Amino acid sequence: MDREKRFKYLKESHDKVWDIIIIGGGATGLGVALDSVSRGLSTLLLEQSDFSKGTSSRSTKLVHGGVRYLAQGNIDLVREALRERGLLQENAPHLVQNEVFVIPNYTYFNKIFYSVGLKTYDLLSGKLSLGKSKGISKKETISRIPTIKQEGLKGGVVYHDGQFDDSRLALNVAQTAMEQGADIFNYMKVTGLSKNGEAISGVKAKDIETGKEFTFNGKSVINATGVFVDEIMSMDKQDHIKTIRPSQGVHVVLDKEFMPGKDAIMIPKTDDGRVLFAVPWHDKVVVGTTDTLLDEYSLEPTALEEEIDFILSTAKKYLNKAPERKDVKSVFAGLRPLAAPKGGSGKTKEISRSHKIIESDSGLITITGGKWTTFRKMGQDTVDKAVKIHKLEAKESSSENMKIHGATDNVDFSDPLYFYGTDRSGLEKLTDNNPGLGDRINENYPYIKAQVIWAVRHEMARTVEDFLARRVRILFLDARAAIDMAETVAILMQQELDKDKKWAKDQTSEFIKLANRYLLEEYNPTISS
Ligand SMILES: Cc1cc2nc3c(=O)[nH]c(=O)nc-3n(C[C@H](O)[C@H](O)[C@H](O)COP(=O)(O)OP(=O)(O)OC[C@H]3O[C@@H](n4cnc5c(N)ncnc54)[C@H](O)[C@@H]3O)c2cc1C
Repeated sequence: MDREKRFKYLKESHDKVWDIIIIGGGATGLGVALDSVSRGLSTLLLEQSDFSKGTSSRSTKLVHGGVRYLAQGNIDLVREALRERGLLQENAPHLVQNEVFVIPNYTYFNKIFYSVGLKTYDLLSGKLSLGKSKGISKKETISRIPTIKQEGLKGGVVYHDGQFDDSRLALNVAQTAMEQGADIFNYMKVTGLSKNGEAISGVKAKDIETGKEFTFNGKSVINATGVFVDEIMSMDKQDHIKTIRPSQGVHVVLDKEFMPGKDAIMIPKTDDGRVLFAVPWHDKVVVGTTDTLLDEYSLEPTALEEEIDFILSTAKKYLNKAPERKDVKSVFAGLRPLAAPKGGSGKTKEISRSHKIIESDSGLITITGGKWTTFRKMGQDTVDKAVKIHKLEAKESSSENMKIHGATDNVDFSDPLYFYGTDRSGLEKLTDNNPGLGDRINENYPYIKAQVIWAVRHEMARTVEDFLARRVRILFLDARAAIDMAETVAILMQQELDKDKKWAKDQTSEFIKLANRYLLEEYNPTISS
């Protein structure tokens, strides 16, 4: 995991030709890397920022078949996603929890309608089922969701899906691929494509930390850059016409008091026909999402006021205690790629939630759409395509049986450090050797200083944001608390990364500026150093 050593190796291997070079370290790119190493292909993945900095850290946290797609009659998509859901639960049991979802029903018709529909969901999950759905009484609905609005409540339907930590999974998939021989870098931006005649022969990249430039040779190049795919396609073809238009999805995070039980709520049809989830996550509740067409995209999209209002006002219809703006601990936005309108039409069409693989004349392969849940299968399909087009010598894919780094069946989800899985013992060793590292970073949350050291040494964390947003999830859970932790984290990282005091100070103020984007009211405490 030592970045300096790995860079030295990269410089020494400038003549190397990788079988597969992947641009983008979100769910999709990492899925390609995982499948690629499972076939014995030499693999290089370059991420311009941190792993899962884009959409892949901003999901609803569901490993699911997609009840909504079932309602749309998209049976094949749901069947495939349910299979992947089951495989992921087997391969990453330290990150994927079996979650009970309650659909509260305020009419008897809905109770019957959803009970029948979810039987199909159960059937489609086959051997990899997480549990059977069933209709439940009003009394049981209230006992499962004590804060549910009771007026007019007729009962509910419960079903099972998975719930996970998206950024931790991204990191653990990167670690798994590296352990199998992949070269994987964060903070390496692809700035151009190299060609041999018309055919793609590699990428040009820049190390964001030092500005150093590199050229990497590859037999195949995969564009897995989410809403950024058009930028890479334009590097390939100057007159490339945009294929993507982003649609934003926002979530707000509330304290557990708004939904104190273990179960999640699924509202299949809000007043304007959307689906809304309220999901327990790391001792908070994540509520969302929205679907707002945008003209611009960025790695750090901002929630619109009307999206926050929509979520809060919808939650108010289903919860006894109405959450207000002051109750929002954090708000985060993610972008899904939609197919851009063609021929001047204003209409957009979803690049369905099933994925799409585009092959360019130059041999560039672009993969877009899909879901976190199906990241592995998307990777497999993409590698299949690369093997075929570029005649790569590859074994059969075995990613569906690959255990993800940290996997253990011995998980106590009530332990605040459960998500480390088998790495938990490494953290304990750190605190045994230096008991001060067992101290909390902030008195209100269970994170300890050893986690910062661990993240730098073993999890490729390079910035305060990497740690507070994606190695632990406090920025997404309670942005104010994250701000309070920033300085302590910066000082620990400064020492571990051998940086100076100015670095720590800059990191702290940069993080505070960023974290304010996750808050509805500004919070700027004075920094002590
Ligand atoms: C609001 C919302 C909720 C969702 N909820 C769920 C859910 O609950 N369950 C589920 O299964 N799916 C969910 N999804 C879908 C899922 O999150 C996405 O399918 C998935 O995260 C997309 O991953 P990606 O790798 O394609 O894109 P991204 O995560 O955006 O990754 C693309 C990466 O490419 C990098 N990149 C871009 N340009 C360059 C360059 N030049 N050089 C190097 N790197 C570059 C970016 O920095 C970025 O990290 C949700 C999506 C949204 C929007």
